[in-house]
Amino acid sequence: MRLISETACAPAQTPAHNLPSYLQPDGLGPWGNYLQQVDRVLPHLGNLSRWVETLKRPKRILIVDVPIELDNGTVAHFEGYRVQHNVSRGPGKGGVRFHQDVTLSEVMALAAWMSIKNAAVNVPYGGAKGGVRVDPRLLSRGELERMTRRYTSEIGIIIGPNQDIPAPDVNTNEQTMAWMMDTYSMNVGATTTGVVTGKPVDLGGSLGRKEATGRGVYTVGQLACQHLGLSVAGARVAVQGLGNVGGVAARLFAQAGARVVAVQDHSGTIYSDAGLDIHALLAHVQAYGGVAGFAPAQALESEAFWQLESDILIPAALEQQITPERALRLQTRLILEGANGPTLASADDILAERNILVVPDVIANAGGVTVSYFEWVQDFSSFFWDEEEIKRRLVRVMTEAFDAVWQVADERRVSLRTAAFIVACRRILHTRELRGLYP
Ligand code: GLU
Repeated sequence: MRLISETACAPAQTPAHNLPSYLQPDGLGPWGNYLQQVDRVLPHLGNLSRWVETLKRPKRILIVDVPIELDNGTVAHFEGYRVQHNVSRGPGKGGVRFHQDVTLSEVMALAAWMSIKNAAVNVPYGGAKGGVRVDPRLLSRGELERMTRRYTSEIGIIIGPNQDIPAPDVNTNEQTMAWMMDTYSMNVGATTTGVVTGKPVDLGGSLGRKEATGRGVYTVGQLACQHLGLSVAGARVAVQGLGNVGGVAARLFAQAGARVVAVQDHSGTIYSDAGLDIHALLAHVQAYGGVAGFAPAQALESEAFWQLESDILIPAALEQQITPERALRLQTRLILEGANGPTLASADDILAERNILVVPDVIANAGGVTVSYFEWVQDFSSFFWDEEEIKRRLVRVMTEAFDAVWQVADERRVSLRTAAFIVACRRILHTRELRGLYP
């Protein structure tokens, strides 16, 4: 597949004065990055482009105050958000993250990427996201539970199994979802398992959900390798973030014979030319909270991570990691975006020019929400599938989505990201048009 630089044909952005202040592009922030990605799709939308403003304005934004009593008796307030970006194709769907740097702009972008992702893999959802600006490592378990429950109660006016369904994201997990499910259920007076996904299996969760995002990354990685003529066995893999996404993806690549040569996380960067023992490394992270100090490996300066030689690079941490400056230094062939929004639009052009293939977040990490969809369907029917069934269906959804996006990229000579946006935006805007404007 040959790529052309897409900036040349990108139309001017929506004049900023037409947008409310909180929707203005935030410079190089995540929302600004998302708006740039949408602008690249405009020339490919035909008549549907008359609806494109829909994608540039979240449908609904809720900002909530989350007060809790700390263990020492004082009261702390946290800022929480839930953004429903689009619900044309179905209820809002997307995770909740707890992080000290969460901002409204970030949650807006993450909600928008969920709309694109859900449409790209064709699950019947719109896009939503939530977040609380808090460092959860500083809270006791009791404080964390109170914070989660109060946040759930505050956003309870807009979530629900047919309205908007949260799930885990950065620093949230099965336990968080159990508390959210219980709080919502207590408030409505009925056990409502389908209000969140990513729950413990014993509470209506789905087998295979926990590892689904990482498994999806691995699945599209295999497909991309086939197109590149790159053998997974023996491929050198570098991973940023060894959490639920990066950890599972690294394990599956290692099982397939790849060599995971480098891992970076919040604690440090480690390298081993011979390949890291992933099981030992995951045990080390479990015990010490990060990769730093993993003795069989060499410790590196963090910036060195971006110029290590690898065949596959998996950013699986936070947004805005691959800047133009780092894109110029990367020595890899394939990027699988496990994280949401790890690459700046301006870096995408450099990667295309350098012939580094990027499987974008909205396809690469869609395995999580795909199995969330399976979980939601199982909750509604109270009939649960076995793990093999889940894995088989996951691979099918991911493969169909990847192939469809690849075909559009090939036909239109655009990046896989723009192709995924073309497929997704057409689906969203087509339903928008079919539904028409109310009143
Ligand atoms: N937080 C995940 C994502 O970014 C999963 C969302 C979900 O399952 O709803 O895709």
